[in-house]
Amino acid sequence: KILVPFVGLVLAFCFYSKEDFNPEMLKGKRVIVTGASTGIGEQMAYHLARMGAHVLITARTEAKLQKVVTRCLELGAASAHFMNGSMEDMALAEDVVKEAKHLWGGLDMLILNHIGYTYFNYFDGDVEHIRKLLEINFLSYVAMTVSALPMLKESGGSILVVSSKAGKIGIPFVAPYSATKFALDGFFSSLRQELIIKNISVSITLCILGHIATETAEKTVSHVMQKPGAPKEECALEIIRSGALRKRELYYPYTAVRIPLLIRDWAPEFLDSLTRNSLNVENVKKS
Ligand code: NDP
Repeated sequence: KILVPFVGLVLAFCFYSKEDFNPEMLKGKRVIVTGASTGIGEQMAYHLARMGAHVLITARTEAKLQKVVTRCLELGAASAHFMNGSMEDMALAEDVVKEAKHLWGGLDMLILNHIGYTYFNYFDGDVEHIRKLLEINFLSYVAMTVSALPMLKESGGSILVVSSKAGKIGIPFVAPYSATKFALDGFFSSLRQELIIKNISVSITLCILGHIATETAEKTVSHVMQKPGAPKEECALEIIRSGALRKRELYYPYTAVRIPLLIRDWAPEFLDSLTRNSLNVENVKKS
């Protein structure tokens, strides 16, 4: 009896927020998107370009970035630039933000999206791999945020942090990745509180994503998933939309992510078992 009006309220809130969004909100905005040579990041760059934003994109592979920049300009970006290099190098993280200052004199939106390579299997005991992944998936996000905050404070801008269901609940076969995504929640949820206390108008949106059909996900996890991934184009748009609306968190696809999170604190063992049963565990090789 209580659940029905509660679910109704949540859905009404979602649709109300969606109606408030207007692509014009991004016109002329200065946006950094990391990890934008492929997947969701690439699609975010294209959406931003169609909306008339300035984009600065990053990843390691120069040739792919060059193609994305060319496409962004064709789609109507106010300007499009790239910087390539690995985000395990904190100097690069800081240099990207400096480049935005040099190009545009300020910044409106920082979209932190890149991830380093990891395996999808039983934890292999490699501590060094976790250290490296923490540098790429977590510390570089912190370094970029520290460098970008002065410009974002000036513009009343937004930080969008792309995380995962594996950054909120325990999912098998992704222990190193999961650790880095949980770290993002801890750091950015705490920072958001401090910004509010200090009356600083910089929003932080944590994007909790379920399975999305990117090339990487198809290659690494599709054999274990029982359902196909959600479309990366729609996912990318939802991330931008929720950032523009300064939402606290995004859940995409909504029910596949939100329902497990609602169960998490009330029936954790039930959720653990649902999670195990939702995977084709037999397709993961035991080492
Ligand atoms: P992709 O693998 O398609 O994209 C990753 C991007 O990061 C690429 O541009 C890649 O380019 C770049 N990258 C890889 N290694 C480095 C590095 N060392 N330094 C800098 N950049 C690097 O990922 P997705 O689009 O699938 O995922 C995007 C985000 O969404 C991630 O944060 C991921 O955790 C999250 N997510 C995705 C899900 C999914 O099912 N796809 C599910 C849940 C969350 P290059 O190789 O050229 O460096």
